Amino acid sequence: MHIVTGPLGWIEVVCGPMFSGKSEELIRRLRRARIARKRVQVFKPAMDKRYSADEIVSHGDQRMPSEVVTNAKEILTKIDWRAEVVGVDESNFFGLDLVDVAAQLADSGKQVVIAGLDTDYLGRPFTPMPELLCMAESITKTLAICVQCGNPAKHTQRLVESNDLIVVGAAGSYEARCRRCFEPGIPKQDLLEFARPRTLSKEDKAD
Ligand code: ADP
Ligand code: ZN
Repeated sequence: MHIVTGPLGWIEVVCGPMFSGKSEELIRRLRRARIARKRVQVFKPAMDKRYSADEIVSHGDQRMPSEVVTNAKEILTKIDWRAEVVGVDESNFFGLDLVDVAAQLADSGKQVVIAGLDTDYLGRPFTPMPELLCMAESITKTLAICVQCGNPAKHTQRLVESNDLIVVGAAGSYEARCRRCFEPGIPKQDLLEFARPRTLSKEDKAD
């Protein structure tokens, strides 16, 4: 239980791999805030247009209208200062600037709810999540289901060939994997297929 007196701002973070329910959890919290008659504002990065240009959308197709910003600082120009609860989805697209922005919003008395990936396609901490986790009053780590073995999955497995940190994509480009099944980068068998589309070898033909 949190005992809060007056309009105390704070930061809560929901983090985990893709498909772990971060957007669903963010939408759930923001809906509950609306039920409590709080003024809610939601932001998402412009580069994430996978499912909708102006909504946050979960992989289970839950939706909530959202404002689109090209960078973290734009949140401060678009914020309605009467907003009591501010949601941010896909926070890993915003970089380190989001840390200052979240702090300013929380310091001004707003409840800030941030969702984003905590690790990248190599399993490394994904900026700005480590910093946000240290600053937050509340932290939730969500896990997906490993598509290989069914165990709890903390990793986002990239399935397409790229060394870029950010490759926007959903099902087909990424899948959830547990610690045991995760292969940092691209799975080896897929790498082989990228390099050399499979054709029948002499031995195969002999079969
Ligand atoms: P995130 O924001 O973490 O990417 P979403 O909230 O968008 O997650 O989607 C979560 C939903 O994705 C689940 O409720 C489920 O319907 C669906 N889903 C698809 N693949 C998986 C998986 N491998 N593990 C868990 N949920 C999955
Ligand atoms: Zn697994």
